[in-house]
Amino acid sequence: MRNLWNDDEAGRCLDDLDLRVYTSRLLGQDKSLVLHGGGNTSLKVREPNILGEEEDILYVKGSGWDLETIERGGFSPVRMEHLLKLAKLEALSDPQMVNELLSHMTRATAPPPSVETILHATLPYKYVDHTHADAVVTITNSDRGEDRIREIYGDTVVLVPYVMPGFDLARLCALKFAEESTSETVGMVLMNHGIFSFGDTARVAYERMIELVTKAEQYLVEQGAWALSASTALPSDASRRVEVAELRRALSSAAGYPMILSARSGGKGLAFACRSDISIVSQQGPATPDHVIRTKRLPMLGRDVEGYASDYRAYFETHSRQAKVPLTMLDPAPRVILDMEFGLCAVGRNARDAAIVAEIYDHTMDIISRATLLGGFRALPAQDIFDVEYWDLEQAKLRKGDKPPLFAGEVALVTGAASGIGKACADSLLARGAAVIGMDIDSRIEQLYRRPDFLGIACDLTDEEALGKALEQGVRAFGGLDMLILNAGIFPAGQRIGELETATWRKVMAINLDANLVLMRECYPLLKAAPHGGRVVIIGSKNVPAPGPGAAAYSSAKAALNQLARVAALEWGGDGIRINSLHPNAVFDTAIWSDEVLASRAKHYGLSIDEYKTNNVLKVEVKSRDVAELAAEMCGPLFAKTTAAQVPVDGGNERVI
Ligand code: ZN
Repeated sequence: MRNLWNDDEAGRCLDDLDLRVYTSRLLGQDKSLVLHGGGNTSLKVREPNILGEEEDILYVKGSGWDLETIERGGFSPVRMEHLLKLAKLEALSDPQMVNELLSHMTRATAPPPSVETILHATLPYKYVDHTHADAVVTITNSDRGEDRIREIYGDTVVLVPYVMPGFDLARLCALKFAEESTSETVGMVLMNHGIFSFGDTARVAYERMIELVTKAEQYLVEQGAWALSASTALPSDASRRVEVAELRRALSSAAGYPMILSARSGGKGLAFACRSDISIVSQQGPATPDHVIRTKRLPMLGRDVEGYASDYRAYFETHSRQAKVPLTMLDPAPRVILDMEFGLCAVGRNARDAAIVAEIYDHTMDIISRATLLGGFRALPAQDIFDVEYWDLEQAKLRKGDKPPLFAGEVALVTGAASGIGKACADSLLARGAAVIGMDIDSRIEQLYRRPDFLGIACDLTDEEALGKALEQGVRAFGGLDMLILNAGIFPAGQRIGELETATWRKVMAINLDANLVLMRECYPLLKAAPHGGRVVIIGSKNVPAPGPGAAAYSSAKAALNQLARVAALEWGGDGIRINSLHPNAVFDTAIWSDEVLASRAKHYGLSIDEYKTNNVLKVEVKSRDVAELAAEMCGPLFAKTTAAQVPVDGGNERVI
């Protein structure tokens, strides 16, 4: 494990809290220590309050912050005196604890303090660091884990048996620390959970963490339980997108809402899914409670979603001592799927959740593989795992959560998404919670957004083979397709029929018409598997109802596409797929309309640029965003009972009216 401490960087810290931020970020950078909001750190300082009285304050990581990116404001200041009194109570329920923490902060706008706040307060060190280090939990979750921890660390750490995070854990840690700590003590290991290190400076606490985790890693090396054989399983190139989409539909139906299914894992997940002992090693439980909160229940092996869901309902009924969720409201869908053909699949309510599940399980696979080499992976009993999954505090967060966005868990494909109307459509769909696959011939599409719910694929849509591969990639990323926005197209320079070359005509037809036929055909089985029914939006043109001279190829292609959409509406209606068209006109904020072109066109008509832009009945400028917002709404409930509609978005055009 690398020690990332850097004297220059540390030297730039102005005070203790700056140093607290600095080493928290060092810990957060290493994904084998903490993942996605996991782990927490704290600092104890004495500072004056508004009355000038000195108070001991614990600055502890606030919930919702990630150690990797935490800032000063991400630490919640809580009064130490009260925390230490709380620690002496016999019992404190989770809601009571939350109330006490929130009401004893010295900054009302600070985030809610970590649920491990009282634990941090009881450790008598200025800096306290806590991680769920992979190497440590590998050992605590293996056969004879406790003996091994003693063997590795001797008296330098206090060992605490598993108790669910919260007040009881804080109390037990304080007790164990009082009983077992010596002058040699530098840390504390929590069985099936993680590790604490502490010290009087930020550097000492951080470096102790690195040393302790390095010892665990070295132990695994010595025991022949570190190096994992490189995966030999290679994901096949075979087209599986329809199978993936059907699996996602089954998952969504079990969950009661559309889910994202990410099946893009590499050979590692596939090799793990193909282990001969997979039905044993994967079915014991997670490595740490922190992971349960995100990956929830046990992985599903194979694709029998109904079987999994009914087993899960039975498990829920057995373990829920007081039902916090009515059985009818239960979402029994798995979050991790291990399939011998798809490999590791991650499931989530949105693409971000699925990405988190994928990353956590990536670490879980290493932990399980290494613990198995060490003599066997030993997870917590089912009841403990259940208690974390249905933890009051986590449930409260869910209840407090806002209404999910319109397209939560749904997937849209937008063609020509690198700029103009296509990019605006991607934005409108992302803003409504959809995961978006953006395709464009312009390779800048790949870098358009770096976010888990966007996948940009550079693709020549007229190349059927390339298109097939791009669809496969997109569907594996998010699990299927709910919405298809056919936007890509070209607008060649004006040419009258007398001068129109066959090559130009064919090129326009190939892009504006033929490619859309192929897309519709290939997307049909995917749209059919959409949990809420497939939706297609065609970005047509005013030229369909009102063609102009000089645009024969463009207008003909758009008119043929319009007719294609009408036939599709007839053919696909029975599958719950609706298809509607938009006919925009004079949208000038796109790549083809440079300022010079705009100025010359305006001059041609004897208009100012503003007059030219608003040359319609309503005298309004039509922007890409206007078209995109309407396209997105056409995929939503407003148009739930409409198919084959053609809606102008042109500010009113006399020839169309
Ligand atoms: Zn923890």
